[in-house]
Amino acid sequence: MGVERSALLYEGKSKRVFATSDPDLVILEFKDDATAFNGVKHALISDKGRINCALSAYLFDRVREAGVDSHMVEKISDTELLCRNVEIVPVEVVVRNFVAGSLAKRYGLEEGGRLARPLVEFFYKSDDLNDPLMGWDVPVILGWTRDWEMAFMKEQALQVNVILCAFWDDLGIDLVDYKLEFGRRPGGALVLADEITPDGCRLWEKGTGRKLDKDVFRRDLGDLSATYHEVYQRVFGAELGA
Ligand code: UDP
Repeated sequence: MGVERSALLYEGKSKRVFATSDPDLVILEFKDDATAFNGVKHALISDKGRINCALSAYLFDRVREAGVDSHMVEKISDTELLCRNVEIVPVEVVVRNFVAGSLAKRYGLEEGGRLARPLVEFFYKSDDLNDPLMGWDVPVILGWTRDWEMAFMKEQALQVNVILCAFWDDLGIDLVDYKLEFGRRPGGALVLADEITPDGCRLWEKGTGRKLDKDVFRRDLGDLSATYHEVYQRVFGAELGA
């Protein structure tokens, strides 16, 4: 492609974003860092960057085939995706198929029950405020999003859900919940952005309920690197190379 990586634009907890020689393109680099509880817990997880980069690229391709556009252009190295530059909408869109995590906690529910239909929730993307839950009107009235954007994000999230549920289901895994982010293109169109990886999803093995996602790290349930290697193996049918 001949796109040169240039200045570091942003460093997050698990990714870095670099400018490139083309102002319309950025490079997303996946790091091995894992954090939980808003950065309070931190560790380096061997191969996480490579695994999440490969999974994200693969899953963005699957959702695009099914008609949902994203910021991704292509995978350009083991840990890097070339992406279209977007302005991230400060709303975390969470889709849930089962009761888990903050939904269970908020309403005093046991984790594990399947929801009658997929639930879409919106959280304000703010580390300082610990990502508070928002009703639909809040980000619109506060000027962070527009009504059509909220409707679009919900509709796209539900479309992504159909694709991803079927995908994980075929691999013997229940997609419990996950977080999506969207970005604005110049001109205002919204596209799916950020990443789709087990860092931002709950994946439970069917039958056993064994966790195959970042909860293994959050809840000290075992070796996160081995877990991510297992997810990679299930998705690609082969071990991650050296
Ligand atoms: N999630 C995420 N980033 C966040 C918050 C949530 O990726 O800042 C993901 C999380 O991994 C889970 C889903 O969104 O798959 C729902 O998370 P929940 O609201 O239950 O919060 P948690 O209890 O996981 O913090």
